Amino acid sequence: MTALAVKHNAINLSQGFPDFDIDTELIKMVNKEMKDGNNQYAPMPGILRLRHTVSKLIENNYNSFYSPEDEITITAGGTQAIYTAIATIIKPNDEAIIFEPAYDCYTPIVKAFGGLVKAFEMQPPFFDIDWDMVKKMVTSNTKLIIINSPQNPTGRLLKHQDIEQLKIITKNTDIFIISDEVYGQIVFDNQEHLSLSKFPELKERTFITASFGKILHCTGWKVGYCLAPQNLMKEFRKIHQFLVFSVNTPIQFAIDSYLNKNNLNLKLPEFYQKKRDFFRTLLKQTRFTLLKCEGSYFQNLSYQNISDEKDVELAMRLIKDFKVACIPNSSFYSKNTDFKTLRFCFAKKEETLQKAVENLMKI
Ligand code: PMP
Repeated sequence: MTALAVKHNAINLSQGFPDFDIDTELIKMVNKEMKDGNNQYAPMPGILRLRHTVSKLIENNYNSFYSPEDEITITAGGTQAIYTAIATIIKPNDEAIIFEPAYDCYTPIVKAFGGLVKAFEMQPPFFDIDWDMVKKMVTSNTKLIIINSPQNPTGRLLKHQDIEQLKIITKNTDIFIISDEVYGQIVFDNQEHLSLSKFPELKERTFITASFGKILHCTGWKVGYCLAPQNLMKEFRKIHQFLVFSVNTPIQFAIDSYLNKNNLNLKLPEFYQKKRDFFRTLLKQTRFTLLKCEGSYFQNLSYQNISDEKDVELAMRLIKDFKVACIPNSSFYSKNTDFKTLRFCFAKKEETLQKAVENLMKI
């Protein structure tokens, strides 16, 4: 979609990346680290200073402790953390349960290791999970459940009742969990982000993955981290060592300095809620139906009242005829199920959002 958007000179609300500049302070900090000679390999699990900072961040946000020495590893982005966690868990014929629409890397990675994916399809408008159905999907081969909250693409947050069900399903089993928490700090309306680090029964079986790209607005840097109890992290690092070994050293140092300079609080809920509200208010002038957005930086729109064409077709038409790019949500379902919804990224300047809505109003 991004390639098509460029070709047709369309406003690109498809791929999830900011179109605004990152903080110049952060750039200066990276420059300083490079000039100061921090340009060689970092230690395999990441620089210790940054691991201490991540530990403090998690303790502040979720009141949960991960040891910097052996429960935190700095990774080359969220995706590498997910890849390595899946590689740690999945053997041929193991089953993984995922919730669709889903971020696109989970299924191919599970399959790459010979695993079988069982997908639960969440449906608009609320994308709720029917846990009785999920229970029926669990077999003696189930090794992994992947969750993502706030969720890409739906913007849905897991609730306490979801967490309780997850506890019931995994109790007395050897099922592991990957909790993709890349948008964990982007949660709206004073709602609580229920990180799995908060629930000891789940924490003991969970790899939490996260990305600095999302919280520092620099998705191209590809630096993130994984949290897991010591016994799981020991296995994770055996793969990490020979897949990546060392993640960008000056950027690790700079991120550490930057997070500490900001007292580990980047005020992201306020920052993105303002953009969400701005975008939603404008969108009310269009014929699209707004779905809920509880977190992340994605707004979903239903076009059921406008057209019955396929979501891929409409998305193409939006680019060519209306110069706005989005993602058709069928691409996030393994069966390409089409519920007539589109995902728009609002990690953009207000003027970009405004221009996009002006075009969408013509539909
Ligand atoms: N998980 C989700 C849900 C995402 O949306 C993304 C980025 N689009 C990632 C993981 C990957 O993060 P990174 O770019 O740091 O690999």
